[in-house]
Amino acid sequence: MEYLPGRCDACGFVVLIAHGAGSPHRGCPKCDADVSVFPGAKHREDERGAFETLSQRVHDSVAPGEAARVLSEFEELGDVEPTSMPTWLVSRLPALSQTIAALALRLPTQSIGTMLITLLRARSSVRTRSGFLSLSGDSYPDASEVSKGRLA
Ligand SMILES: [Zn+2]
Repeated sequence: MEYLPGRCDACGFVVLIAHGAGSPHRGCPKCDADVSVFPGAKHREDERGAFETLSQRVHDSVAPGEAARVLSEFEELGDVEPTSMPTWLVSRLPALSQTIAALALRLPTQSIGTMLITLLRARSSVRTRSGFLSLSGDSYPDASEVSKGRLA
């Protein structure tokens, strides 16, 4: 079973949702609203706990504007070694340092970096409660559909 990132349509919380035919629908663990697929890397079962820990931390301690700022700095840097990504991100987001240090004991730093980028992208595009694109969740959206939806 593989898992894709999904974001709650109402509160913006990010979770992993099961990918594949016949997956049970999963509502937001915070508010029970529908969760829509958000573009990002697939994750394995054993990464779910770490993803959700990190998601909670980003949700609690990173404002949407801050996530957007860090992401744009990250994009300006160009090629960051995947293994040094978490270190760089912690230097910009010190509130996440303890969580990342704890996760680094059991996950490759590259996986943590990938999760963080997905979470920051989801966080940075949270604007209003009504401004979300709603997807069926049956198929993985391509990036152009998503950006069209978000701009509309
Ligand atoms: Zn929610």
